[in-house]
Amino acid sequence: MKNNKKFETNSIRAGSIRSDQGEHSEALYLTSSFIFKDAEEAAARFANTDQGNVYSRFTNPSVSMFEDRLAALEEAEQCVATSTGMSAILACVMSLCNTGDHIIVSKSVFGTTVKLFDNILTKWGLRVTYVSLTKLNEWKSAVKPNTKLFFVETPSNPLTEVCDITSLSELAHESNSLLVVDNCFSTPAHQLPIKFGADVIIHSATKYLDGQGRCLGGAVLGKKNQMSLVANFLRSAGTSMSPFNAWIFFKGLETLKLRMDAHANKAMDLALWLEHQKSVDRVYYPGLPSHPNHALAMKQQSSGGGIVSFEVSGHKKEAWDLINSTKLISITANLGDTRSTITHPASTTHSRLSQQERDDSGIKDNLIRIAVGLEDIDDIKMDLSHL
Ligand SMILES: *Cc1c(COP(=O)(O)O)cnc(C)c1O
Repeated sequence: MKNNKKFETNSIRAGSIRSDQGEHSEALYLTSSFIFKDAEEAAARFANTDQGNVYSRFTNPSVSMFEDRLAALEEAEQCVATSTGMSAILACVMSLCNTGDHIIVSKSVFGTTVKLFDNILTKWGLRVTYVSLTKLNEWKSAVKPNTKLFFVETPSNPLTEVCDITSLSELAHESNSLLVVDNCFSTPAHQLPIKFGADVIIHSATKYLDGQGRCLGGAVLGKKNQMSLVANFLRSAGTSMSPFNAWIFFKGLETLKLRMDAHANKAMDLALWLEHQKSVDRVYYPGLPSHPNHALAMKQQSSGGGIVSFEVSGHKKEAWDLINSTKLISITANLGDTRSTITHPASTTHSRLSQQERDDSGIKDNLIRIAVGLEDIDDIKMDLSHL
């Protein structure tokens, strides 16, 4: 869907479909099925010789508008929308791998992604190896003849580690594999993984694409030949996006760049402030010069993003005391919302890991993650005055 328009124009104009009513703001097509003008047209639609809509599990104009707009923003050939971010990951792996295939996955991925791979897909014969996101030699030694996919999130959650997408995509391609990047944290507004060599993009639209914490949704993006396999999977498996949610996300994309710029500016401000607090031991934010992958992050991303993590002096008690002292920031593990959220990864999102695994991944008991919302940053700092 690459066209010659700039990002902010595409976020507002790409993918629009107008009905004959002359609406300016795109309509919501809340219909499960579509009528045909005669039996001939019905037969042609089912035979796929006529491309029109049949049933909203297959296609729906509101969902198509979201898909075409997001594809334009990610500079991908095609986008397939899904019911959730998890179903995007499921559809991607089920469509692009077969029984007995092997995938290499970064240790720093979303918790449920690990559960999906380990508890469900391995039952169907998928083989999975976990490696460190940033250590290319670990990826290299994990490659097997049956390796099909490399799977990463960059920046990662919650430590905001950043991997070199170009080097990893080169290694994936030498290994006859595809590089899949979950671009949930940066969004296309601040990072275009396909430009750096990634093959497939995953989104949880639930996060920044919605931006206001209302709906669940997801997307898989990539080359047409691969995405047609994903679309066929959804037609049969049924984990397609609801037209209502698509309409919410489609509208959300119109302000994505403005919102991401604001999230990132506020997060940078907070990260700098946190670095100067006496009771903060360490701050993790790719926009800070102190971040170990700062230079790489600034090459790949146009900002440090909206997520800031930090270690408070002390242990779990001190971390929990800080969380419990907040009055404004929401205590929830969600992110990508206008409202700032605070979470203690060791006892929530990463509690499934053993103490040893958390120690190995660097997720300490005194670590706190804040997804910076769009409130005035002075009020957020005030809410953290316990520090
Ligand atoms: C939330 C999230 C997911 C899962 O998305 P859902 O919409 O909740 O199913 C996948 N990857 C990342 C990075 C996420 O933050």
